[in-house]
Amino acid sequence: MSASEKLPVRITPMVESRFGLDGGAMFGIIPRPLWSRTNPPDEQNRIDMTSRCLLIEYADGTSVLVDVGMGDRWTDKERGIYNVHAQDIGLKHALSTHALDPDSIDHVVLTHLHFDHAGGLRSKGAAPSEFVPTFKNAKHWVQRRNWSWAHAPSARDGGSYRRDDFAWLGESASAPELELVDGVAEILPGIEVLPQHGHTYGMQIIKIRTASCTVAFLADLIPTSSHMRDPYVMGYDLQPTVTVEEKRALLYEATRHDWILCFEHDPITDFARVELDKRGQPRAVALASGEVPEELKAPNAE
Ligand SMILES: [Zn+2]
Repeated sequence: MSASEKLPVRITPMVESRFGLDGGAMFGIIPRPLWSRTNPPDEQNRIDMTSRCLLIEYADGTSVLVDVGMGDRWTDKERGIYNVHAQDIGLKHALSTHALDPDSIDHVVLTHLHFDHAGGLRSKGAAPSEFVPTFKNAKHWVQRRNWSWAHAPSARDGGSYRRDDFAWLGESASAPELELVDGVAEILPGIEVLPQHGHTYGMQIIKIRTASCTVAFLADLIPTSSHMRDPYVMGYDLQPTVTVEEKRALLYEATRHDWILCFEHDPITDFARVELDKRGQPRAVALASGEVPEELKAPNAE
């Protein structure tokens, strides 16, 4: 068997939920007249967002999920604030269209533990206040630095970490296996994790190599296709100038090696390539149907 035969054979984006966040917070210092052209806000100034997860499959049936979205543990009040609609979407439904269910997921890789990435780790159980592991047979991967930070975040980003989402993984003897990763690592064949610290400490973006392409799943480093240029950094970021440097480094590599980008929060675009405009500024160009690699095509697509 050659090395390439062990690489992932299919990468499928799955929209777990749609929600809304304040457009001003999402674009930091960028004035509203600029960002509202590409991301029109609603009457409460919220822009459309997705929680887009990634299903990665190997030829031997091993399946990997990157991030798990918002989940179903939300009160009506919270659903109102974040305009969450997960009811008719959800990962269970998305997985069922691939003849999979949460029990058949072998690995869950978390980019970081913010609620819109890790909220789906547990689901509502039979009793009203009972929560059960959603992916009970999966090994769960997190950067050790993010795991530590999430347990004692700063007052500034404490609202983005809900302890109930993740702490049980390290506390309950019956919890699925937890693997804490230190720095850059190839955690599974063709799947590398690359830590970034501008958004929050120990976030990791995920680089996936297949026989014909390389995909970078960008988490909150570049949350949507409207966040490609240097100053387009979220107001949520702990170290915005670090984010700018990390974005530049990522986009340099992506341009040089023709990586395909995948946006976790873009309401429309999932996969894109980088193009440089006349002034050398990067922009995202959605993949045309003719240039989608075999591994990124939906199984039943033409
Ligand atoms: Zn985040």
